[in-house]
Amino acid sequence: MRRVATVTNVFAMPHRENSTAGGTHAGGQTPGPSDHEQVVFCQDNNSGLRAIIGIYSTALGPALGGTRFYPYRSEDEALADVLRLSTAMAYKNALAGLDHGGGKAVIIGDPAQIKTEPLLRAYGRFVASLGGRYVTACDVGTRSEDMDIIARECRYVTGRTTAHGGAGDSSVLTALGVIHGMRAAAKHAWGDIGLHGRTVGVEGVGKVGHRLVSHLVEAGADVVICDVSGTAVEAVLARHPQVRAVGNVGALVAEQLDILAPCALGGTLTEELVNVLTARIVCGSANNQLAHHGVEKLLVDRGILYAPDYVVNSGGVIQVADELAGFNFDRARAATEQIFAATANVLAIADADGVPPSVAADRLAERRMSDVGRLRGIYLGTMGSA
Ligand code: NAD
Repeated sequence: MRRVATVTNVFAMPHRENSTAGGTHAGGQTPGPSDHEQVVFCQDNNSGLRAIIGIYSTALGPALGGTRFYPYRSEDEALADVLRLSTAMAYKNALAGLDHGGGKAVIIGDPAQIKTEPLLRAYGRFVASLGGRYVTACDVGTRSEDMDIIARECRYVTGRTTAHGGAGDSSVLTALGVIHGMRAAAKHAWGDIGLHGRTVGVEGVGKVGHRLVSHLVEAGADVVICDVSGTAVEAVLARHPQVRAVGNVGALVAEQLDILAPCALGGTLTEELVNVLTARIVCGSANNQLAHHGVEKLLVDRGILYAPDYVVNSGGVIQVADELAGFNFDRARAATEQIFAATANVLAIADADGVPPSVAADRLAERRMSDVGRLRGIYLGTMGSA
């Protein structure tokens, strides 16, 4: 890694309050290192580890966010991703009401090729070296079993297996949170939280999507699905024969949908897709659903109510945050159920302020980071006055 060859390279930049005012978090400018409190480049030649840890903000508490293990084409690509992801975590954690700031890490390389115990343990020592400013968890390319290994070197890790005292698969509460967010959106759009008889298209029926389908079927919705994995589709149809499957997201949005639930990868909501979408509501688990800046406005113009992704998909991070206090499923579920109120609040503020819901969500998150961060500063003696 060209930037640093030893332990850490720390840019201790001050956190810029309201740095993304106006909704740039929802698809505008990519955050840079100067928006972040700290960016750490990690390298261990023995194990082949090359990683970057991004801490956007600790205004609300220790930065919390997963470790993505991915074959980035370059270090610059990895850096851009970690800066974007850690910023997004700060907003998600703030709106979920957690006492956590935002952070994320990326490990560069193909996990199928280079993931080993020595590499994960070396990574764990880097996380430990930050003394709790960053708490890691699972993301694309990492699993609970990997967190168990990292935990052998480091206390600041969550999302471990139940066998090792962790909470296990976070998709259970993520799916629960999405259905609560969907009910809040339904109430906002139609005056009723009921989903009975509504046609819901679910794109991606993996860990979260297949659980969301079960909630929807239970609620009496008509469900149409698509997934690039035939195995994933077959598993859902075997469980719920009344569900229909179509070939791809184009065929899904060609259906007469009431609700679209993107639960695959990010970037589903392109201008082209939104222009042909008949659904009144978009509400799903996928991160970064807005493909680019401007789509949030197009959704409003077309009368489509968008429940912001990071508001409705925070059940997973609520779960891993709870694990840090000794996991209690009922407590985590109760916190996840608050996603109904959080979504309703965001949608009401969007209406009142005449802005898209994603912009309203960003503003609320920024306000919490700013207000609570200032108060914490006062009580910790790092600021002079309110
Ligand atoms: P997953 O990998 O288990 O499932 C994703 C599914 O999408 C897979 O079945 C995959 O085959 C399918 N897919 C991929 N590309 C597709 C395409 N072009 N069209 C249709 N289907 C496609 O992942 P997951 O854990 O279920 O997460 C789903 C989304 O929710 C991701 O964006 C993830 O970042 C987000 N999310 C997940 C959690 C969680 O707790 N798992 C929490 C927050 C956000």
